[in-house]
Amino acid sequence: MVLEDGRTKVSGGCACGEIRFGFYEPVAFRTICHCRACQYASGGGPAYLVGVPRDQFRVTRGHPGEFATLSEAGNLVTRVFCATCGSPLYSYSEGMPDAYAVKVGALDDPSSFKTRTHIWTSEAQPWHPKGLWSVKFRRNPPFSGRAARSTGDGSGDGG
Ligand SMILES: [Zn+2]
Ligand SMILES: [Zn+2]
Repeated sequence: MVLEDGRTKVSGGCACGEIRFGFYEPVAFRTICHCRACQYASGGGPAYLVGVPRDQFRVTRGHPGEFATLSEAGNLVTRVFCATCGSPLYSYSEGMPDAYAVKVGALDDPSSFKTRTHIWTSEAQPWHPKGLWSVKFRRNPPFSGRAARSTGDGSGDGG
């Protein structure tokens, strides 16, 4: 949905509808994170993520659950999910103080997601198809989630 001032509003939520959220484009980055923690959140594969500047993001309905762990890089990473249906929604990290990493699967329209940037490939499972890994970082990329990068790729929530 394009607003009068030209910004595009993106909406999303969980499978049961209890949690709703929204944010404005442009996003800070798009990436695919293969870290072990993301495998738990995704069910085995990587997590497909859009990085949204925190001041552009709002939970508009409900009170999601949170669970925090210490990442390999030593940052507290908090995963946010619907406490009723369990849908993973987004995460945030001390290592990335300006952005939320929103799960593409929680968007109302995930179809526009596009990136070839893969991070934490060192933890990807050996059976994961690797043919399209054109841009990859074995762990975190050298930058992290500053608001609205025009290049649009590369960070994540691995810590
Ligand atoms: Zn739900
Ligand atoms: Zn990850």
